[in-house]
Amino acid sequence: KPQSPLLSVNNIEVVYDDVIQVLRGVSIDVPQGEIVTLLGPNGAGKSTTLKAISGLLKTENGEVSRGDIHFMGERIDAKNAEDVVRSGLFQVMEGRRIIEDMSVIENLKLGAYTRNDGQVNQDIEMVFNYFPRLKERTGLAGYLSGGEQQMLAIGRALMARPKMICLDEPSMGLSPLLVKEVFGIIEKINRDQGITMLLVEQNANYALKAANYGYIMESGKIVLDGSKEQLLNNEDVKEFYLGGG
Ligand code: ATP
Repeated sequence: KPQSPLLSVNNIEVVYDDVIQVLRGVSIDVPQGEIVTLLGPNGAGKSTTLKAISGLLKTENGEVSRGDIHFMGERIDAKNAEDVVRSGLFQVMEGRRIIEDMSVIENLKLGAYTRNDGQVNQDIEMVFNYFPRLKERTGLAGYLSGGEQQMLAIGRALMARPKMICLDEPSMGLSPLLVKEVFGIIEKINRDQGITMLLVEQNANYALKAANYGYIMESGKIVLDGSKEQLLNNEDVKEFYLGGG
């Protein structure tokens, strides 16, 4: 019997304001140590899926009205966001959400708020190893470029020493060169530290190359899923998601 996945989303439905149904039975498995990507057009429900996983729906008056979510064998769909972080699952939200009037180091320390093991300074050095240019930025985080803010957001997630990171559109607003750099670092973190990743993206090219497995969501449903190779070679995926040909 295959090992059960680290994260298992089982047939969830999500409604906002009690009536607006956005997810219509979504199932996603993320095996330990892998990178899985969730692709789909604007408004398909990708961010909603991540919010359901990370316990962030309640702040937007949304709820998982059907189905369940398990992380490390434990049911998490009724947990609040802080408890989900404590269980080892960290979300890097769309738009990065760094604290602009704090320094890089203060932002990184915020990521470690669920820990009290005295290793925080050591981990700041670990983050600077992945993102050397953050070390040179001694001013407020608000002065960082978009790419640097994305790096800081990922670094802050690492500070929590998570077992799994969910990333919502890490390529958003970045130049092609920076997208390549950020995806390279995401893959390196996965390789070095074995941190499991769920990657929500509209940039299917990079996301599928980084991932082991992918799901495609349209209008609140998974319409296709498969290994990286299966999806990269699928005619519909090529036409609609990989820019033709
Ligand atoms: P995007 O790439 O634009 O973020 P997405 O695939 O992540 O798209 P969601 O942000 O999950 O999609 O949105 C899915 C649908 O849910 C959209 O129709 C959106 O209008 C609706 N929606 C999102 N948040 C809320 C909310 N707080 N209240 C009501 N409807 C919402």
